[in-house]
Amino acid sequence: MKGIILGGGIAGLLVAEKLNYPIIESNPRVGGTFSQEINDITLQMPCVVGKECANYLSQYDIPSVEIDILPMYRKIEHFQEKVGFNLLRLEEVEWLSKFTSKKLYIVYLKDFVNKLTRNKRIIKSRLSMIKDNVVRLSNGMTFDTPEIVNASSRKALASILALDLGKLGSILAAVFAIATKKENVDWNLMLNGARGDLFSIVLRDNRGKEYDLYFVYSFFNSALSFPSNFRDRIYSNLKRRRVLLREKVIADRLLIFNEGIVFGELPMDDFIHVGRLGLWKNFDICSTIKSVDVVG
Ligand SMILES: Cc1cc2nc3c(=O)[nH]c(=O)nc-3n(C[C@H](O)[C@H](O)[C@H](O)COP(=O)(O)OP(=O)(O)OC[C@H]3O[C@@H](n4cnc5c(N)ncnc54)[C@H](O)[C@@H]3O)c2cc1C
Repeated sequence: MKGIILGGGIAGLLVAEKLNYPIIESNPRVGGTFSQEINDITLQMPCVVGKECANYLSQYDIPSVEIDILPMYRKIEHFQEKVGFNLLRLEEVEWLSKFTSKKLYIVYLKDFVNKLTRNKRIIKSRLSMIKDNVVRLSNGMTFDTPEIVNASSRKALASILALDLGKLGSILAAVFAIATKKENVDWNLMLNGARGDLFSIVLRDNRGKEYDLYFVYSFFNSALSFPSNFRDRIYSNLKRRRVLLREKVIADRLLIFNEGIVFGELPMDDFIHVGRLGLWKNFDICSTIKSVDVVG
């Protein structure tokens, strides 16, 4: 085996496209942030980008939908602190900073991920040890002297190597995707800096004929501060802010990203790193794709 790829997000899948190495992925699904989640209704994570990125993605046959923002704001002056906890500025989070634009472009990556997944060797496991040029996985498999391309968490890799993790920090992001019966409302984005509310962003997609989709983003400065009764509390917040009523909900799905926003640095020069978690940068999809240029 010449090499292995850690992480089966879009970055890891693109590396496999070039190098044909197997991918080690800890989640049941590949695609990372944009892995498919299906209930009765497809609640697909929207990928919000700027115009330049939308144009760039067209070369991969990824179509985009242009949205004129009709915003609703609450305490917008505190929005940045609420999302970044004074640990980093909004502009440092490429994908999040797009939400403050007047026009958004939304792309859906399901077909792209499906296409990239074809003919790839995916091992559902995680790294458990690297020693004397041998890599061991938690399922017992071992690989001898492979090249390691890290498209998964730099922090997880550093922890396997027993490095000091103190310099790498992250903010937990929760995305609550909700489908409701259709309503006659026209706003499509809410940016909410009010500290009393758990949520910071609501992206509302009312283009469907049968139901409206809401993507509710919340941020927590540690996994420990994520409330166990999140669902009840968020529905109560959404009701109080007249966003939606729980009685109208047809389906929902909660996605948790422990390493949602990342900060800090820790050099690890013995590996090739790609993607947002490998390079520990808050890339949007276009920077993620470009980060794979170092390979092959
Ligand atoms: C909540 C959220 C919303 C976002 N919204 C947008 C958006 O609207 N627009 C946009 O352009 N970008 C957005 N992004 C950024 C998005 O993550 C990037 O655009 C891109 O998808 C990053 O791809 P990636 O492969 O580098 O990382 P990821 O998609 O994070 O994939 C990393 C993969 O590594 C795996 N992994 C992690 N740790 C391990 C381990 N220890 N062992 C094995 N596997 C592991 C994970 O399971 C995952 O599959 C968002 C990010 C988050 C967190």
